Amino acid sequence: MSNTHASGETVECPNLASQPTLKPVDSRKSILGSGLPIIRHLPSRSQRLIGPWCFLDHIGPTDLTTDNAVDVGTHPHIGLQTVTWLFEGALLHKDSLGYEQVIAPGQLNLMTAGHGICHSEESPPGFSGPMHGLQFWIALPAEYEDTPPAFAHHTDLPQWQQDGAEITLVVGELAGHRSPATVFSPLVGADIVATQACRLTLPVPADFELGLCINEGHAELEGETLKTGELYYLGQGRDTLILTLSAGSRIMLLGGEPLGQPVLLWWNFVGRDQERLNQAVSDWQQWPNDRFGEVSAYQGAPLTAPTLDPSVRLK
Ligand code: MN
Repeated sequence: MSNTHASGETVECPNLASQPTLKPVDSRKSILGSGLPIIRHLPSRSQRLIGPWCFLDHIGPTDLTTDNAVDVGTHPHIGLQTVTWLFEGALLHKDSLGYEQVIAPGQLNLMTAGHGICHSEESPPGFSGPMHGLQFWIALPAEYEDTPPAFAHHTDLPQWQQDGAEITLVVGELAGHRSPATVFSPLVGADIVATQACRLTLPVPADFELGLCINEGHAELEGETLKTGELYYLGQGRDTLILTLSAGSRIMLLGGEPLGQPVLLWWNFVGRDQERLNQAVSDWQQWPNDRFGEVSAYQGAPLTAPTLDPSVRLK
C-alpha cells in the first residue's frame, strides 16, 4: 500500500523505551483510494517504531465489490520491506522486478525495497467479498538500506499449536522457530489465532521491543483488556507473555531489536537522513528511470509523491 500521509513533515522515528510497559497506541482511521477502510497504527504521534517496524495498516474488515475494489497505482519504496498478511480476501501485487502475485490468507508477500522498487496493489480481476488483513513496513538497518530490491511469496510458514492457540510465524523468530522469509535484523511477526478461549504462555526475547495488534476478539495481558482494532505497545524487558485469549480472537505479535539508528519516514520512503529522502522524491519525480524500474503489467496512473518542504530540516 501507499502512505497517504502528506502533512509536510518528515516523521522521525526514535526508539524510546527500554522497560516493560503496556499502553494503547493512538491510531487513525482513514480511507485508502476508492473506499478501503484502514486503521493506521504506525507511525502515530505516540509511537513511531516498534523494534524495526515503522508502519502498520490494519486493512478492513470490509466487503469489497468490483465498484470499490482495491487499486493502489504504481508507487515507489526505498529503505524498507513491506509485509502483506491477509486474514480474508485477496490482493494482486505487481512490481518492477516483473513479479505478479496474488496473495491469499495464510500466505506472505514480502517485498524488499532496498535501493528502490515500485509496485502496484489491486484486487484480483472480478474479486468481491470480505477483505481483512495487515500491511507492515520494516525499516532496513543502515548497512542494508541500499540492498538490491527483491520480492518473495511464502506459502509454507512455520505453524504450531501452543496452549490451545495456533501460531503462524510470518517473519523472524519466536519460541525456537524461524520463518524462511529474508529479514535484515532480529525481529518477530507472528499471527496468533485462538479457536477457543485459552491461556497462552509465550517465551519472547527480552531485548525485543514488542507490540500486540488485536485484529479480532480480545485478549488480556497482566490484568489489562486488549480491545479489537487496537495496537498496544509493550516496550522491552519481558521474557514471557501470558495472554488470555477469547474464543475466535486473532492477534499479531510484532517487534524486534531496536535499530539504534535514526529512522526517517517520508511518504513511501525510509532513510537515515533527509538528503536520502530528498533524492528519492526527486528520482520519483523524474520517473521512469533505472532506480525504480517500471510496472509494465499495471495499466493505471502512477502515484505522485507529495511535495517535500525543503524548509523542513531534521537533526
Ligand atoms: Mn506500497
